[in-house]
Amino acid sequence: MNSIFQTSEVFVSENQFIAEFSNSVTLHIKREDLLHPEVSGNKFRKLKYSVLKASELKKNCLLTFGGAHSNHVAATAAAGKLEGIATIGFIRGDELEFQKEKWSPTLTYANSCGMKLKFISREEYRNKESEAFLNQLQSQFPDAMIIPEGGTSELAIKGCEEIISEADREYDYICTSVGTGGTMAGLINASSSHQNILGFSALKSKHLSEEIKRMTTNTNWSINTNYHFGGYAKISVELIQFINDFFRKTRIKLDPVYTGKLLFGIFELAQKNYFPKGSKILAIHTGGLQGIEGMNERLRKKAQPQIITEL
Ligand SMILES: *Cc1c(COP(=O)(O)O)cnc(C)c1O
Repeated sequence: MNSIFQTSEVFVSENQFIAEFSNSVTLHIKREDLLHPEVSGNKFRKLKYSVLKASELKKNCLLTFGGAHSNHVAATAAAGKLEGIATIGFIRGDELEFQKEKWSPTLTYANSCGMKLKFISREEYRNKESEAFLNQLQSQFPDAMIIPEGGTSELAIKGCEEIISEADREYDYICTSVGTGGTMAGLINASSSHQNILGFSALKSKHLSEEIKRMTTNTNWSINTNYHFGGYAKISVELIQFINDFFRKTRIKLDPVYTGKLLFGIFELAQKNYFPKGSKILAIHTGGLQGIEGMNERLRKKAQPQIITEL
């Protein structure tokens, strides 16, 4: 069977012009969201070498972890379906086990791809990185390749190094959203020393910089923590308005958890003249659009404005 993760050719996404700010600062966006219709954005890059290794090791199952709205869970389920490999998702929140009607669109989708969903309590979920828990899982599922939450591993970082190419050396700033930091580490490794890699934290965490230092030895990067909007998956009416305006003007959808916050941050910094005169900025569109539907469900319940997906 043909793999969607062919090794022979590295696909480079198109960079699209978005805006010119004052001081001749320009912004382009790399359309990683168009990489694959189901395994989109950085989750494709992060899964690539794990899936290839699983097939090399004759492992016939991918086992991973995530929350009810996880882009990584959705991407792993889709990759398994397309590659003909079984998938198991350990999902945070055991209250969901017998309440299928409360499943998020992400979980319903993962299930429809054939992923076996195992719901665990929040306490148990906290163990997901402990060696004892992982050893026990591996002996319970000997044929499974275990992939950490968010997909971050050395193989994932290697995959993310393929996001940028020689041609992207013309950019002074490469900006990305940061969850676990695996994507950013790959970008840092693949960048040249004259480039600045700017990570926009999508969550409240004091340890992100330490995490990144563990994954790369280069030093041409920094993390901005001013645009997480209160924490992971937290949003505001202002953010939703920005995402909708951006879509109306560019026809490019942004997700509310990662790329919406990233672009909001870049626009605000550019308007405050943070970037030196003439800077060329490249923002990475890491995908994540599958999360919009779940966010809109939550917004509807709170009677707040929706993220528009059609004009
Ligand atoms: C998972 C995800 C990220 C964060 O990637 P990390 O490698 O965990 O930092 C960013 N953007 C989108 C759309 C994602 O789904």
